[in-house]
Amino acid sequence: MSVARRSVALLGATGSIGIQTLDVLRREPEAFNLVAVAGGSRLVELAEIVKEFNVKMVGVAHDGDRAAMRALVSSDVEVVTGPSGLAELAGRAEIVVNAVMGFAGLPVTMATLEAGGRLCLANKESLIAAAPLVQRVRFTPGATLLPIDSEHCAIHQCLAGSSTSPGHRDVAALWLTASGGPFRGWSSSQLANATLADALQHPTWTMGPKITIDSSTLMNKGLEVLEASALFGIEATRIKVVVHPQSVVHSMVEYVDGSVLAQLSRPDMRLPIAYCLGLPDRLSHAWGKMDFTSAMDLSFEPPDRVAFPALDLAYRAADRAGAAPAWLSAANEVAVAACLDGSLAWSEIIPLVATVMDSYVDDPLDSLEALMENDAAARRVASGILKLSS
Ligand code: NDP
Ligand code: MG
Repeated sequence: MSVARRSVALLGATGSIGIQTLDVLRREPEAFNLVAVAGGSRLVELAEIVKEFNVKMVGVAHDGDRAAMRALVSSDVEVVTGPSGLAELAGRAEIVVNAVMGFAGLPVTMATLEAGGRLCLANKESLIAAAPLVQRVRFTPGATLLPIDSEHCAIHQCLAGSSTSPGHRDVAALWLTASGGPFRGWSSSQLANATLADALQHPTWTMGPKITIDSSTLMNKGLEVLEASALFGIEATRIKVVVHPQSVVHSMVEYVDGSVLAQLSRPDMRLPIAYCLGLPDRLSHAWGKMDFTSAMDLSFEPPDRVAFPALDLAYRAADRAGAAPAWLSAANEVAVAACLDGSLAWSEIIPLVATVMDSYVDDPLDSLEALMENDAAARRVASGILKLSS
């Protein structure tokens, strides 16, 4: 007896997570049917995906690209545009992979949960910024929020035994592992001269440019503290960071009795992607399979919080709650984009974010309008500082 294929929308299909999701889908043609894809500026690549998977709905970021996309795909393919297009596509599939980069992924997160779909979330920025709003929609009947981010996917697996404990009171700490990025072991004075090229050399993961820079500043880990708190309903003071350069232990849950559960694999994002797509079943291809027949060392060390102040900025934002995480993430997006286009030195990214946070006035973030205003305000402040310093 054949089981019906589950429909999948892959939004952010042309990026690093998007391409790796396509790898997983290619292996599982009997299980999943890709019905919708979306991307930003890489139209030709997006059209190739539409053809290969015979996709019937495609989204592009800009209204002005609609005609170009129409010309690239067959006439029976529906083309939608912009944030409303993303939201529309998110409502058309049982499973939605949010692989969009940055705050632009917000419509996908909200629309999927509102429609009662399964949200496989790589786009941490939307959850971090909209945490209080996501809490209201994530319990829509049928809605499921599953983390693709490797640390959170590890914790999701290690928390299975804690599911009956209200507020996870049996959890002493979540331990997020961090590779330490390309600058692990660098002193503050060495970091002052770090270049964009240095920052783009991640030791263990190949990822899109924004998250690669976030990993080099440790802001990625700071954002992941906020992400874990929002996902698992555990306050940030119970979420800790440990540097683990091999990126084999993807994260750990420490229980109050001292027992620590960890999830291991070789670093390969296709494993957490496959886990989120397949749940409650395990898909049988072993991405990132471990080899315990050869010798291997796993090491752990505390992060250098003086050289990498992004971590403390994130804990402070968690403590202030409301729109503070949205400000942190928005300011960071502006700063990282400026670094990537060569207009801001790497060493100025986190100082810029810290200065923006000084302008934040507490806001409980009780509506989508308030979120959009806060996001815009943080970007305005960040851009203003950039202009002054250029
Ligand atoms: P990439 O930059 O490689 O890809 C981003 C994707 O988003 C591209 O497909 C891009 O389209 C698309 N996109 C950007 N803006 C829009 C928009 N306005 N509308 C529609 N699509 C848009 O990023 P990654 O794949 O590395 O990261 C994606 C998300 O996953 C991020 O939130 C990141 O933090 C998270 N993540 C990534 C990991 C990784 O290993 N890469 C690991 C854990 C989390 P186009 O290219 O066509 O412009
Ligand atoms: Mg991660």
